[in-house]
Amino acid sequence: MLNPFDTPDRVEFRKVLRNFVSKEIMPYCNQWDEEGRIPWELHQKTGELGVWGFGIEKKYGGLGMDDCFMRVTFNEELGFCGTGGVSAAMNGRMISIEPIQRLASEEIKSRVLPEIVSGRKGSSLAITEPSCGSDVAGLRTSARKDGNHFIINGSKTFITGGMTSDYFVVGARTGGSGLEGISLFFIDADTKGLQRTPLEKKMGWWCSDQATLYFNNLRVPAENLMGDEDNGFISIMENFNYERLSLSGGVLGMMKACLDESVNWAKERYTFGQPLISRQVIRHKIADMSARIDAVEAYLNQVCWLFNNGKKPIAEISKLKFFATKALEFCASEALQILGGAGYLRGNRVERIYREVKVMAIGGGSEEIMRDLAVRQMGL
Ligand SMILES: Cc1cc2nc3c(=O)[nH]c(=O)nc-3n(C[C@H](O)[C@H](O)[C@H](O)COP(=O)(O)OP(=O)(O)OC[C@H]3O[C@@H](n4cnc5c(N)ncnc54)[C@H](O)[C@@H]3O)c2cc1C
Repeated sequence: MLNPFDTPDRVEFRKVLRNFVSKEIMPYCNQWDEEGRIPWELHQKTGELGVWGFGIEKKYGGLGMDDCFMRVTFNEELGFCGTGGVSAAMNGRMISIEPIQRLASEEIKSRVLPEIVSGRKGSSLAITEPSCGSDVAGLRTSARKDGNHFIINGSKTFITGGMTSDYFVVGARTGGSGLEGISLFFIDADTKGLQRTPLEKKMGWWCSDQATLYFNNLRVPAENLMGDEDNGFISIMENFNYERLSLSGGVLGMMKACLDESVNWAKERYTFGQPLISRQVIRHKIADMSARIDAVEAYLNQVCWLFNNGKKPIAEISKLKFFATKALEFCASEALQILGGAGYLRGNRVERIYREVKVMAIGGGSEEIMRDLAVRQMGL
């Protein structure tokens, strides 16, 4: 679909990314997924494109500019490779970069941001706990002040990049119960008192790692407190905006991959003497998928435009996220139906996307929570 917000720079950016994904990722991503990891060089090669530098000052290795359309394009083009684990493995850092730049001390920012943005080092955001995911205000990991330090105890789970990241942004309770007693901390992965174990045998995202982190009397200097004490909840919520937008961009890329595979297969596959593409039932499925892709794309563009114009369209982001993941669920199911038995075999994009729909619908704010938030934002 023609994008009224396209500019020569954005078109060129997409071209560079598409070329990069088709050369550096597509030929290998199935193998990486089966192996359960991506090579670290990919983080660095991707970092060289500047994709993690949006909104980051140049002195910290960033681009010194921001453009929501380009952020989303990056996620969309990665999503098109149809291996969500590649995006998860690399973009775990994306949801921690922004709070580091906004809230960490100058010493931390200048030490770690250039490494993370360039892809030399990895970072993760650790909010979810075994006893709470959606209910962020219920988190229990504690941070007790002890002189010039905080002592952190508790655990986090489902943390993307948890086994490989060098740095963590961690939500912990410094005050009383509820959303007002939460703070954010910057933690180096080699700090004494941090242990991590991998979460294995997942439904999808095989080539990314998720881990449970254990904090056992972990001491961090008070300077590692990010932002104001007890004020972390708002920062966590603000950070969700870009995460949800990025996930929606990835979803759009996955939907386009479903359509791409469906059209290619329907042209090649003959049944009862005719190509599938000639059958009205199949043509309608393709039309239904394509219409949903257009709708998600147009919605994304509108939200990007709002972001670029300084708005925080929380209701729209929430609606976009669940609308997009429902549309992906439809596309993955229809695409697999068109591929028939061939789609059921491991090693093709549709089979993988079909397994990875749910993580998009749950991670970064589940469909149910997104609907609740949207309606609350509508003042109801
Ligand atoms: C592969 C993967 C990677 C992840 N990476 C990270 C990461 O890097 N960092 C991180 O901090 N977290 C991460 N997460 C965690 C993710 O953010 C949570 O899984 C998500 O927020 C949902 O929390 P939960 O799984 O505890 O589900 P729960 O909160 O227990 O919810 C279970 C179900 O109940 C529904 N539900 C919950 N409350 C309500 C309600 N009030 N009304 C109606 N329905 C409700 C939910 O929508 C969901 O469908 C990851 C998760 C996965 C699966």
